[in-house]
Amino acid sequence: MERIVIIGGVAAGATAAARARRISAHAEITVLEAGPDISFANCGFPYYIGRDIDRRSKLILQSPESFREQYDVQVEVETEVIAIDREARTVRARRKADATELELPYDSLILAQGGKPFVPPIPGVEKPHVFSLWTLRDMDAIDSWIGTEEPRSAVVVGGGFIGLEMVEGLRKRGMDVEVVERLPHVMPNVEAEIAGYLTEELQAYGVGVHTSASVTRIDDDVVVLDDGRTLPAEMVLMSVGVKPTLTLAQEAGLEIGESGGLVVDEYLRTSDPHIFAAGDMVEIDHTVSDRKVRIPLAGPANRQGRIAASNALGERRAYTGAQGTSIVKLFEATAGSTGLSLTQAKAAGFDAESVVVHKENHTSYYPGATPVTVLLVYERETGRILGGQTAGEEGADKRLDVLSTAIASGMTVSRLAELDFAYAPPFGSANDPLNMAAFVAENRMSGASSSITAAELDSFAGDLAQPMVAIDLRDPFSFERSHVRGSHPVTLKQLLMRTSQVPKDMPVLIISEDGKKGHQALRQMSQAGFEAVYNVSGGHTSIERYARAVGYEYFDVTLRRVEEKDLFAAADTGGEDEGDTPDAAAGGGLGGGEPLIVDVRTPEEFNMGAVPDAVNVPLDDIGSYVESLGEKGRKITVYCASGARSAYAVRMLQQVGFSNVHNGGGLMDMMARSRG
Ligand code: FAD
Repeated sequence: MERIVIIGGVAAGATAAARARRISAHAEITVLEAGPDISFANCGFPYYIGRDIDRRSKLILQSPESFREQYDVQVEVETEVIAIDREARTVRARRKADATELELPYDSLILAQGGKPFVPPIPGVEKPHVFSLWTLRDMDAIDSWIGTEEPRSAVVVGGGFIGLEMVEGLRKRGMDVEVVERLPHVMPNVEAEIAGYLTEELQAYGVGVHTSASVTRIDDDVVVLDDGRTLPAEMVLMSVGVKPTLTLAQEAGLEIGESGGLVVDEYLRTSDPHIFAAGDMVEIDHTVSDRKVRIPLAGPANRQGRIAASNALGERRAYTGAQGTSIVKLFEATAGSTGLSLTQAKAAGFDAESVVVHKENHTSYYPGATPVTVLLVYERETGRILGGQTAGEEGADKRLDVLSTAIASGMTVSRLAELDFAYAPPFGSANDPLNMAAFVAENRMSGASSSITAAELDSFAGDLAQPMVAIDLRDPFSFERSHVRGSHPVTLKQLLMRTSQVPKDMPVLIISEDGKKGHQALRQMSQAGFEAVYNVSGGHTSIERYARAVGYEYFDVTLRRVEEKDLFAAADTGGEDEGDTPDAAAGGGLGGGEPLIVDVRTPEEFNMGAVPDAVNVPLDDIGSYVESLGEKGRKITVYCASGARSAYAVRMLQQVGFSNVHNGGGLMDMMARSRG
């Protein structure tokens, strides 16, 4: 009878045990686990701390007893393996309860020991209010500290995904939270502009963000940073990375790889053919860069556990590697990455470039649309997609998974441009943000649009031997809120009418809201003979996010004040539902006979900025306000964002008898006119 011994009983180990039993009804399977629990959902811990998950028991997927019963597997918890004898094919383990030792023979051994959080040797790190989070015990310790000590402040050291998830959890438990990250931005695996989106969310929820900063000392109620600042910290969470657990493997003489993980072949066999390994402790092939990497994530760990068990029982299943797809939820924000970032792609030897688009997750006219960002990294010559990152409140996850699939299948941007997505207004757009990202990439590759990403701006400016002209095509309200100092606010119409005033001997940088209008301007200027026009991919949205995350050397960007978000707002809205009745006539009054300016956009759009003295009567409500608009001969100018809704409103008003009503067009036209 085949004897399988598995060391470690969580993601990779528990999966391996279950798989082994499914393959062989007769194998003798033993799981040895150093901790008290097996098969728990560590990915859920931060949500239990924040009470999104209300019961601890939901995190325990199997108890040793239930596992034993369900799979007929011998499970020994609180039993640490202390040595592997490869010659004799035995493992020696020690029971924590009474320090007794047991020796177990194996035909195949599966190492699934995972890793442990790395805790840097900072003075004060041993204090009782300093925690890391990896096991159920760690979670319980944090939870009980919060319950009994009621800390008012917390510092999270490390801005990776676990750190950020815990920021949210601790904030939800009522603490003032600060996050300290040694690298230039939080979530170091995403590009700076995506990190800027997360930074804004942190700031909106009142979380202090300290990047390019290290904690040098931990005192009882403060931490001290390397620049001497102190941050209040009645509780500290260390979350700076995970080290693979390799002592046993090293002592057994198994080969350790260049990335610091245990070497396995495609069948997940270590350098000893009777020993397999899976999960956070191994190094694997990155499927895009072909480099050896460690990807300590639950998905790869589970799939490797399954394959290791199959091969331990004589099958020959190859594991092809992973591409590091990961995602984080931070309050309302979501961001994730798959494949290579632009920096990683270049480091791996690819001639790569990237583009960014921001587009609504579904048609903007269907209620509830929110923007989703897609950053696409591809090989310049072939168009092969090498990586992708997405961000947004809704729909970022679905785009990320499509990108992951596209990368895995070797798709090019041209193929992505044509990809058929399910479309109806509540779900998407006729051109999905992913199609749009591919169109933009095609334009950049073909030279039809010489775009520059927010991240490339500094090196672009640094390489220029002469000054450039920066033109900002956004509306004046957006410009006022945030802009690149020295840029010129001009409407697209004005720009196209007055191209002769733009110097042809200087490079021209076009900045629009999201890059779309900038592309149009670029195309028309190129056709008018401008040779050095560049459109910022992702527009000012990307510039601002990048500036918020890491800042520029050559550009001074005024940052928009982040609007505070109320953590408990959703819970507080218990009273009367006041409905969506728009505040018609917001911004002024309808009475009187003087000329009237009517803004027919939504109240949300109106509140972002409107023509002085305009009144807000959303298009859908215009019928109800006909009586309030005064005499039928009154001069009324109607406008909206682009001039389309206002044209419709003009027709409606004319049909009910208003004779002196005009379409003012879009907001930008109205503003330009009012400035004369
Ligand atoms: P582990 O789960 O670490 O299990 C290894 C086990 O081996 C441990 O229980 C250990 O006690 C045992 N062991 C080690 N040495 C011995 C020994 N000598 N004898 C006996 N037993 C031993 N990943 C995602 O993909 N998405 C997420 O959202 C996500 N969120 C996370 C949130 C948190 C808070 C944490 C901690 C991790 C998260 N992860 C997430 C990572 C994911 O949980 C890990 O990648 C995964 O658990 C790795 O599985 P593993 O089996 O390799 O190792």
